[in-house]
Amino acid sequence: MLSKGEVKLLNCPFCSGAGKLYINKESRFGDKYTVICEECGSRTPDLITPEEVIELWNTRKI
Ligand SMILES: [Zn+2]
Repeated sequence: MLSKGEVKLLNCPFCSGAGKLYINKESRFGDKYTVICEECGSRTPDLITPEEVIELWNTRKI
């Protein structure tokens, strides 16, 4: 599991809402991670590691 302080999500680039990290455990290929904006529903693709998906979220272009 993720330890506290490990996740540093920036706010949504579209609406400045809070991004939240979700874990999809239903994938047959193992856990997948997605960041979804709680305000507008904007989301990243599913990625294999939380580091990757957080990096993608934090650097995504508007
Ligand atoms: Zn948003």
